[in-house]
Amino acid sequence: MEAKNASDDWIKQSELLHGEWVGIQSELYADKFMTLLDEAIHDAKDMLIERYEWICSQNPASAKFMYENGTMNGYIPGEGIKSAMRHGTLVIGQLGLAEALQILIGKDHTTPEGMELAKKIEGLFKRRCAEFKQAEHLNFGVYYTPAENLCYTAMKKFQQKYGVMKDISDREFFTNSMHVPVWKEVSPFEKIDIESQLTGYSNAGCITYIELPSSVINNTDALEQIVNYAMDKDIPYFAVNVPNDTCLDCGYTGEFNDCCPECGSTHIQQLCRVTG
Ligand SMILES: [Zn+2]
Repeated sequence: MEAKNASDDWIKQSELLHGEWVGIQSELYADKFMTLLDEAIHDAKDMLIERYEWICSQNPASAKFMYENGTMNGYIPGEGIKSAMRHGTLVIGQLGLAEALQILIGKDHTTPEGMELAKKIEGLFKRRCAEFKQAEHLNFGVYYTPAENLCYTAMKKFQQKYGVMKDISDREFFTNSMHVPVWKEVSPFEKIDIESQLTGYSNAGCITYIELPSSVINNTDALEQIVNYAMDKDIPYFAVNVPNDTCLDCGYTGEFNDCCPECGSTHIQQLCRVTG
C-alpha cells in the first residue's frame, strides 16, 4: 500500500504526535485515529443531548413570544418546549480533514489514497449520526462547518501543543470542513470534482466555494459553465468568490490594479473573500 512508503518527513511528523506509534505502519495510525474519532463523535452526541435536555427544561414563559405566535413550529401548549425543540437539528461538525489526512498518511484528499481514507472518515460521521437519529428519535446530522473563527483558534491551540509541522500546522488556520486546502493549485472543476465526492456524507449542511482570480463580468458564459458543472455534480450549496474592489474617494466598484480606474485615487479597498 502507498501508505507504507510514507516519507521520513511523515515519520517525523507522526513522532511528534504519537511517540509510541513510531515505526508502525500508517494504516495503524488510521485505525487508531478512527477509534479516537469514534469516541469524539460519541462525546459530541452526549454534549448535544445534554444541551438539548437543558434547553427543553426551560419554562415556555421565559420566552413567551416565541411560543404564542407560532414562531416555533410544532409547539403544543401545555407540553413544554420539547414539543417544538424536538423538530430542530443536532449536528456534529468538523474542520481540518485535509490536515488530519496529512498527519495520518502524509497526503490529503486531492490524492486517490487521501480520498479513500477521507471517505472512511466521513462514512463514520454519517453512520454514527444515522444511528443516533434512530436511537434518540432526534434529527442528528453531519455538518461541514464553515468555522471561519474556529479554524484560527483551533490552529493556535494545536501549535501550542504540537508545534509547527509542514502542511499540517505551518499556516495560521486549519482548512475548513472537508475543503481542498486554499493553497492547492486546482482548477474550479477539479475542486468541484474532489469536494463533490464528500458532500453526500453531510446531511446537515455543507458549502463548496471556488475562487476566481478576476471578475467574471465580461465572461458570464464561463461562470454559467462552472455553475452548471457544480449542479451536475450534485453540489448542494455552491458559492463563487471574485475580487471586489472599492474606491474610497469616488465610490467606484469593480476590479482595480493599484488605483481607481475612474478617478485615479489610490485610496482604495481591495476585498477578496477566502475561506480557511
Ligand atoms: Zn475613484
